[in-house]
Amino acid sequence: MKAPVRVTVTGPAGQIGYATLFRIASGAMFGPDQPVFLTLLERANPTSAAALKGVMMELSDCAFPLLAGMRAVQDPVEAFRDCEVALLIGARPRGPGMERADLLEANAAIFRQQGQALNVAASRNVKVLVVGNPCNTNAWIAMKNAPDLDPKCFSAMLRLDQNRAMSQFAEKTGAPVASIEHMAVWGNHSPAMVPDITFATVEGKAAPSLVDDEWVKNDFMPTVAKRGSAIIAARGASSAASAGSAAIDHIHDWFCGSEGRWVTMGVPSDGSYGVPEGMVFGFPCIVKEDGSYEIVKGLELTEDTKARIAKNVAELQGEQQAVAAFIPN
Ligand code: NDP
Repeated sequence: MKAPVRVTVTGPAGQIGYATLFRIASGAMFGPDQPVFLTLLERANPTSAAALKGVMMELSDCAFPLLAGMRAVQDPVEAFRDCEVALLIGARPRGPGMERADLLEANAAIFRQQGQALNVAASRNVKVLVVGNPCNTNAWIAMKNAPDLDPKCFSAMLRLDQNRAMSQFAEKTGAPVASIEHMAVWGNHSPAMVPDITFATVEGKAAPSLVDDEWVKNDFMPTVAKRGSAIIAARGASSAASAGSAAIDHIHDWFCGSEGRWVTMGVPSDGSYGVPEGMVFGFPCIVKEDGSYEIVKGLELTEDTKARIAKNVAELQGEQQAVAAFIPN
């Protein structure tokens, strides 16, 4: 039996936490022969502590053979001690009357503290996935507050956007999702994101040859970018199962390798495609079997994609300025 992977999850009693934990423990994240040990960051408030207790009782009742153990911890340093995978899902939701700047600041405080705790306590090869919004900037804050960890330990979740793009395209063309390759989503996890079919193939055929440009610009791109709001309107709550599934996909492919497939990850830029170095940005990546990844380089972007990428860079620069007080010198 392999040694368990030590996974820490924040926001474990929230919607996405609930949708994700059971699948981690069942083997969906790391494979059917890889045990896991779960550490759940508990918030010091009686309502959420009680909810978390209930989640842990249910996890226990599943009798998952791969769940080697679990614990709830309140102190972030203790929660991240030796962790190899960290899912940062917990975040401050936007409350009534809260401005965007207030939301950025409230979350900046959370992700600064978690970055500092990861810096002190996590495995030096930890793989951190930030789900809590604004996820690109939250990941950047955590990364900047963890100077002793490789910046490549940090990522933000744009996989839900890639999955949405693939399924919209599959629906339009009638092809199975599994036949779609090289779908990319560039940028910020915000309505400005850039779903890009330029390099995609469907059963080996070039995706742009299968649909018209008008559909791509006026239907496909806005549908993917605004899907989160459409889910809230339909369900009365934000995406949870699909977000949890994307988190499973993201970590699965980062941990096990993407077998040559492109996977969209929000990762610190290496300067590719004019994105400032260090900015956490959605790029198509390929992950090797050893868990190291590279941004796909040398793609000929259309002028429209370049302009949209520039808009995302400006948006993220604005977010970075708003949280500058949370970044160490
Ligand atoms: P929920 O409101 O259901 O859960 C939020 C969790 O965050 C709860 O566990 C809550 O704890 C915790 N939390 C709230 N405030 C704080 C705080 N100040 N410090 C630490 N933890 C806190 O939200 P969801 O699970 O639906 O969503 C979680 C995040 O994921 C949100 O930011 C959402 O916007 C984001 N998201 C990201 C997506 C992506 O593609 N990147 C897609 C969908 C959602 P408690 O139980 O104590 O209240």
